[in-house]
Amino acid sequence: MGENRSILDTVVVGAGPAGVGTALALQAVEGLVHGVIERGQLGETFLQWPEQLTFLTPSFTGNGFGATDLNSVHPETSPAFSLGVDYPTGAQYARYLRGVAKHFSVPVMTQTEVSAITATVEGFTLTTSKGTVLARTVVWAGGEFHNPRQPSMAGSEHADHSSAPAAWTARSGQVVVIGGYESGLDVACFHVEEGASVTVVDPDHPWQARSGSDPSFRLAPRTRQRVKSALATGRLTLSDAGRATGIRPDARGVYTVALMGGIAVASHSRPVLATGFGPGLGPAAHLFEDRADGWPLLDDNDESTVNPGIFLSGAALRHGGLKFCFVYKYRQRFAHVARVIGERLAKDCSGLEAWRLAGMLTDDLSCCGTECAC
Ligand SMILES: Cc1cc2nc3c(=O)[nH]c(=O)nc-3n(C[C@H](O)[C@H](O)[C@H](O)COP(=O)(O)OP(=O)(O)OC[C@H]3O[C@@H](n4cnc5c(N)ncnc54)[C@H](O)[C@@H]3O)c2cc1C
Repeated sequence: MGENRSILDTVVVGAGPAGVGTALALQAVEGLVHGVIERGQLGETFLQWPEQLTFLTPSFTGNGFGATDLNSVHPETSPAFSLGVDYPTGAQYARYLRGVAKHFSVPVMTQTEVSAITATVEGFTLTTSKGTVLARTVVWAGGEFHNPRQPSMAGSEHADHSSAPAAWTARSGQVVVIGGYESGLDVACFHVEEGASVTVVDPDHPWQARSGSDPSFRLAPRTRQRVKSALATGRLTLSDAGRATGIRPDARGVYTVALMGGIAVASHSRPVLATGFGPGLGPAAHLFEDRADGWPLLDDNDESTVNPGIFLSGAALRHGGLKFCFVYKYRQRFAHVARVIGERLAKDCSGLEAWRLAGMLTDDLSCCGTECAC
């Protein structure tokens, strides 16, 4: 890659699990010329995770029996095996990604930011901090971590988002966490374990979700156990009294969080926003249409509905009511996207069958979402 006029078959933007995994699937397509562009280091997002954060999905080396480690991005790899842990931290998972990329010689250009992507007759022109890159197809795998959702409420600037290290510094007294799904309960349990009293406010009370077995809609078992322990201390309160509408600090350093219905709760340090992330499409945003819920609209091949040739890989994938927000979900599409690209360019894609055999290729989405019987 660099400032020359040759055109690549595919450029992947982002070297997180989605980008590295997609590049590995593209490698299985015979003769496809591809590369990955990453603005930071390989696994950059995980290096920015607060050090207290760990994976929620457990790793286990079941690969030999067709149950590929939930957090792996290639059928022959397992974070549990290479790291020796079942709930990796961000730094550990970045180490796994670096190891995989090195072992399989994934072509990654690091420290290179993509600032613009333009559709052309031949494909796409990518403007990067190291020059222009031309590609017939693009896979956007830029992740969502750089797009924390800031709720539209007065005073939200007085809170720390759960993805920021500041949200994880030990606090005393009463702490208010706004948002009660996985990240909210994770940070809440952390502060209870550190000795603080925590009130989690969320009118949708996700901690009560009992229907369905999809972990995108129901708390993970480990989270439920942690919440149970935190509740037993008497220092965790889960409140669905109303949506937070504003945050107001006073001169004594107390933050009043106003809830709908006229209720208010006090936080003795900056409240924590556990309000999730947006799709984070950055310079690719204008190349996709939005769904009514704000997530990118995709066709059955995870391709833009308005600009053929640009695909999406990663946790922002949505199809109907299906959310692909965990590695074990969105990795099912790496080989599918690679095959669509390969077949369009008349390449031999038979190497991708190994991904299907390893249970890492879902091209029929109607089989997703099956509920557990018990
Ligand atoms: C706090 C948190 C906890 C999570 N826990 C789990 C879990 O337990 N299990 C699970 O399966 N999933 C989990 N996820 C969801 C998801 O797997 C992760 O968010 C994962 O990082 C997504 O991978 P990705 O490759 O799409 O994005 P990222 O890992 O964010 O990678 C995107 C890469 O693109 C680069 N990039 C972005 N924009 C540009 C640009 N313009 N130019 C060049 N490079 C760019 C970034 O630097 C980054 O390295 C979690 C997410 C968060 C935020």
